[in-house]
Amino acid sequence: MTWHKRGCTAIWRMHRGWCDRQVTLPIVYETRHVEHQPRTEVLYGRAVAHPDRPERVEAVRRALAGTRWEAGIVAPREYSLDLAELAHEPAYVEHLRLRCAASDTEGLDGEWFPYVFGRDRSLDTGTPLQRNTLDIAWASAAMALTGADLLLEGAQAVYALCRPPGHHAAGGATGGYCYFNNAALAARRYQQRRGPTARVAVLDLDIHHGNGTQDIFYADPSVLYCSLHGDPEWAYPPHTGFAEETGERAGVGYTFNQPLPLGTDWPAYAASLDRALERIARFDPSCLVLSQGFDTFEGDRWGGFALDAEHYALIGERVRLPGVPVLALLEGGYEPANIAAGSLSLLEGLGSHEVKGVLGGAEGEVHVI
Ligand SMILES: [Zn+2]
Repeated sequence: MTWHKRGCTAIWRMHRGWCDRQVTLPIVYETRHVEHQPRTEVLYGRAVAHPDRPERVEAVRRALAGTRWEAGIVAPREYSLDLAELAHEPAYVEHLRLRCAASDTEGLDGEWFPYVFGRDRSLDTGTPLQRNTLDIAWASAAMALTGADLLLEGAQAVYALCRPPGHHAAGGATGGYCYFNNAALAARRYQQRRGPTARVAVLDLDIHHGNGTQDIFYADPSVLYCSLHGDPEWAYPPHTGFAEETGERAGVGYTFNQPLPLGTDWPAYAASLDRALERIARFDPSCLVLSQGFDTFEGDRWGGFALDAEHYALIGERVRLPGVPVLALLEGGYEPANIAAGSLSLLEGLGSHEVKGVLGGAEGEVHVI
């Protein structure tokens, strides 16, 4: 039996005093992501296989099957592309539309790459445009927007399996496999519905600095951007994410970057995470958007940190600040098995507060949380 209320689901089965308790959270999943199949990135002048493969999310979907989390899977809602302007320039959206349409004729085997930086609105040559890229990237953004709406409707924790990722996309440029900035769109959606005084914290735990998210909110004191990432001296992107970047104009003090050394392990990572969470607690946000990458997992091809599956549960538990609902969005991570293991672990942490709440509840067949 399943009851839905305030976005969360609790399933209890009582059998002669034995209780198989199941608690799950909304997990936003969109099958259309499999249509996003970038083939190539140009890396140091060489064409190499693109690492953002459908298997990244399909491995998670398979791992959820048969677990208590599977009952929480929901499809995203539909949103007008006009909402892209919450975080992106109208001219950028038009650029994506025109270049995707022309990718068959102007691209390399159906993939269009930037030629002149600045004019061609891309940070790098790793983010090709195909005919369907705009549509599928917007479907990914719709997962984040759905997550924001679920928080507004009372959910306390949501996980959206966004693909392609978003945190490298700036207001007017693609980059780092990202097209629409899912975290920024979710934050702006939350503010749009909750009111302009709503304060949103974005915690970026991908191993790469979320240059796009930082850029979008750099002068905005209503959104706090905190990031733990590989030092730009060794990690992508090489030009942003330094500790001295703290915001501009009214936004000074609302960007908090912690670049970390190669090989960072859990004790050092946890200490940095606690510093970010202390800053977020002082900010007193209405909600928290978590940009969660699994390229912090030891052995990731684009990684360099030494986290293991168990650490994502600790992350999920720590980011549950009292009274602050959390929307976790999938960002990077390029080893599908690790993304799957990390996601299951993260969900355990995100859901841990609900488990404690249910354990403390009165005896009965059903508890709705
Ligand atoms: Zn990354």
